[in-house]
Amino acid sequence: MTTPPFAPVEDADLEVLREQLGRPARGVVGIAARCVCGNPTVVATAPRLPDGTPFPTFYYLTHPAATAAMSSLEADHVMRELGELLDADPELQSAYAQAHEAYLRDRAHYGDVAEIDGISAGGMPTRVKCLHALAGHALAAGPGVNPIGDLALERSTWSPARCVCATPGSALAAPTSREAAG
Ligand SMILES: [Zn+2]
Repeated sequence: MTTPPFAPVEDADLEVLREQLGRPARGVVGIAARCVCGNPTVVATAPRLPDGTPFPTFYYLTHPAATAAMSSLEADHVMRELGELLDADPELQSAYAQAHEAYLRDRAHYGDVAEIDGISAGGMPTRVKCLHALAGHALAAGPGVNPIGDLALERSTWSPARCVCATPGSALAAPTSREAAG
C-alpha cells in the first residue's frame, strides 16, 4: 500500500498495466498497491490526463480479478447494502467523510484541477457508487482509511495476498525493478 509521494514507475509496471487494462495506462504517477507477487493492483493517475481531460479517480483498480470481484459484489447489491449501513451509522459517515478528504489530499500532490475540485471518487463523501474506486483507495491507503472500501475488500473473493495474476511477478522481472536495485 502506498500514498504519495510514489517511487518512479518502472517500464515493467507500465507493461503489466497495459496487459491488465488492454490499453496503455494514461497519466500514471505511481503504483499505489501491488499483488503479493509484485504486480500492480492499483495505479495512481494524474488529476489531469496528458490530453487535458480531468480525471478524478486518483486510485484506479487495474487488476482484472480484483475488478471482477468488485463487479460481482455490485451485482449482488452489496453497494446498496453498504449505502444503507452508511446511512444508519454517524461514525461510519464521519470516517467516510475523512476518507474523502484524504483522497483529495493525496491527489492534490499532483496538482489542483478546477473541474474536479472537491470531487473524489466512488460516491464519497456521502454515497456508495463504485466499489472499484473505493477498494482501490482502501488498497492504496491501507486498512482503516476508507471504511467502505475496507468492507468491500472483506467481502471480496479476491485478495492481494493470494496471487491470481495471469503472469505472476512480471512487474519485478525486469532488471530495473526495485528488487534488482536492492
Ligand atoms: Zn500476482
